[in-house]
Amino acid sequence: MPSTVLVVEDEPAIAELIAVNLGFAGHKVLRAADTEQARTLITAELPDVILLDWMLPGKSGPQFAQELRADARTRLVPIIMLTARTAEQDKVDGLEAGADDYLTKPFSPKELQARIKAVLRRRAPQLTNDAVEICGLKLDPTTHRVEGHRNTLEMGPTEFRLLHFFMTHPERVHTRTQLLDQVWGDHVFVEERTVDVHIRRLRLALTSSGHDRLIETVRGAGYRFSATLAESA
Ligand code: CA
Repeated sequence: MPSTVLVVEDEPAIAELIAVNLGFAGHKVLRAADTEQARTLITAELPDVILLDWMLPGKSGPQFAQELRADARTRLVPIIMLTARTAEQDKVDGLEAGADDYLTKPFSPKELQARIKAVLRRRAPQLTNDAVEICGLKLDPTTHRVEGHRNTLEMGPTEFRLLHFFMTHPERVHTRTQLLDQVWGDHVFVEERTVDVHIRRLRLALTSSGHDRLIETVRGAGYRFSATLAESA
């Protein structure tokens, strides 16, 4: 699944270099030259990762990181701070302001991509291409294939994304609103009932291998994907 990366960088040459490299790597890149532009872009579409320069005109990177962490909508978006500074104290300040990681300029495109993958894996494992397997159910984001006990299971793209999210966030109850935000994207306006329709389709797709049992309806709360359900069945 391509992820959306917001690059907040006021030096055009560096911003361009980053954007080109991330574009090659398959990411969708949004660009802002200051935090005000960044705020406008975030309001329109919540990015999966934010690359945030330390020194920006107006509000600084660490100040903006603090704001993003204080806002419920952006609280969990991974932030990688970009900076020319190398002092240990600056690094500590950046991480305390809410950054997840830190890259010192100049950095190689390879290093940048590795860091992005690492923060995505920690914060949003459904956005990486790692295959996941739970109780004989295997999902491979690279080939877009799902297998139940080695038999291919056919499903639509929404059911695939839903299953990917469930498998990377098992044993937790997700409300319909949370599923809409995570699977459909928070800038998309769909009714909560839509979630039920796709859960029904997903269960149907998993029936032949018996993995439909892993999706539990939690009354009045939402849905849970649980490996313990398979063991107790
Ligand atoms: Ca700068």
